Amino acid sequence: MGALDQPQFEQIVGAGCTACGGRTLEIKSFIDRSLVLMLADPNNEGRWVHDGEKFVDGTYRITCTSCAHVVFASEVCPRCNAEGGLGKALGTPSRLAVPKRCPKCSELELLAVALVPATARYGGGETPKPKPLAEWGEDGYHVVAFACHECDNAVVAERCPLCEAPGPLRPRP
Ligand SMILES: [Zn+2]
Ligand SMILES: [Zn+2]
Ligand SMILES: [Zn+2]
Repeated sequence: MGALDQPQFEQIVGAGCTACGGRTLEIKSFIDRSLVLMLADPNNEGRWVHDGEKFVDGTYRITCTSCAHVVFASEVCPRCNAEGGLGKALGTPSRLAVPKRCPKCSELELLAVALVPATARYGGGETPKPKPLAEWGEDGYHVVAFACHECDNAVVAERCPLCEAPGPLRPRP
């Protein structure tokens, strides 16, 4: 698991802010985004493909929206739990380069999955809608894998895609 497990997460979110009693918390997490690339350029901005468990698993910071009190913060890598990995994850660009064409069949359109830092608000009756904190090509936006729909060729990052620590990676929920 990541820095938090599901019961810990629910306890923190359920308790609200421990400083001012505010109910709305801002949660930052690395979550899965899928996008289609044409000649290595994104066709669109992509879409989230994480679920609730993955959102919890990637959580690295929780703050109060009223008083900015930090309710929870972790510096480990949100993907592999390496010490100090969060700074690397947020401060470096993607390492896995997506080629212009499928290396096997030369198809121009490839599907990529990335881990992207996002922020979402919990509490106050709002449905959490994550907003990306990094765009394609920026620091923090890390391609995890790409695949070809024509020939099923798939390439997955061998090291941790966020902080480059050697594998094997811990399983995700
Ligand atoms: Zn507060
Ligand atoms: Zn890592
Ligand atoms: Zn192919």
